[in-house]
Amino acid sequence: MKDRVPVIVLGGFLGSGKTTVVRHLLTEAQRTGQRLAVVSNEFGALGIDAALIGDRADQMVELAGGCVCCTLSNELRDTLQLLREKADPDCIVVECSGLALPFDTQLHLYRPPLRDWVGDEACVVVVDAERTDEADPLFAEQIQSADLLILSKVDLVSPAELASARSRLAELAPDTAVVEAVQGTIPLAVVWPTAPRAAAPVDGHDHDHDHDPHSHAAWASHELHVPDGMDASAAYDWIYARRGVRTKGFVRCAEGPRVVQGVGRRLELVPPGPGGVPQGLLGRVVVIDRTPR
Ligand SMILES: [Zn+2]
Repeated sequence: MKDRVPVIVLGGFLGSGKTTVVRHLLTEAQRTGQRLAVVSNEFGALGIDAALIGDRADQMVELAGGCVCCTLSNELRDTLQLLREKADPDCIVVECSGLALPFDTQLHLYRPPLRDWVGDEACVVVVDAERTDEADPLFAEQIQSADLLILSKVDLVSPAELASARSRLAELAPDTAVVEAVQGTIPLAVVWPTAPRAAAPVDGHDHDHDHDPHSHAAWASHELHVPDGMDASAAYDWIYARRGVRTKGFVRCAEGPRVVQGVGRRLELVPPGPGGVPQGLLGRVVVIDRTPR
């Protein structure tokens, strides 16, 4: 069992395209042989193709009859704990209902016993490019709580509408990175980054995604070599200045080894779990970012 399992809280207004994103993540996980578990709070959302779920029914859970950010928060905690123990996934996606507050959902991940094994949690909010003029205050609140925004259905709007959708997001959440998606297709590495690998400095499947014919923006990963022995706060500043949309790796600080996890403007350096840091990875941090257009 892994020390830490990344948990992605996926939010977004009703009809924003969350389920399409989940379906894409499942397909990609299947293609790359990774175990992705999904907890869905979206009514009827697990109408996800039976073929895609296949023999992995134990990794798919639907929570109905309430909301994971509030009334079902204990059920969410118990479900995540059970998935961890029974399915041992590589990553978990919590698909919130359209009415949930993703940040409130994310806060439940800090409760025991989840806080002992949840790592690299990120709040990703899907926004429909055709409906950024939504007046409901919940819409703005969801966007403002995101670490990362996915602008979906960009293929269905004109260039002028896309520009206005982007400026609306920039107005609501000026510092939050936006990933454009066509039919839910996004670079998997942006949502679910992998740490540097001992053998290959650059992750092969990230490379595939740089050439994905569906993606509008190009993404690339590169590695930072962080000098050893800085104070954790100095290392934080050093990495912060060089961070990308996603930043992940391991550094050797004056205080000891630290796991680096970053999403958008949020960056943390935390002590590793009991398993320690894999050999050869200290001082290496992978950064995933847009390539300049
Ligand atoms: Zn709620």
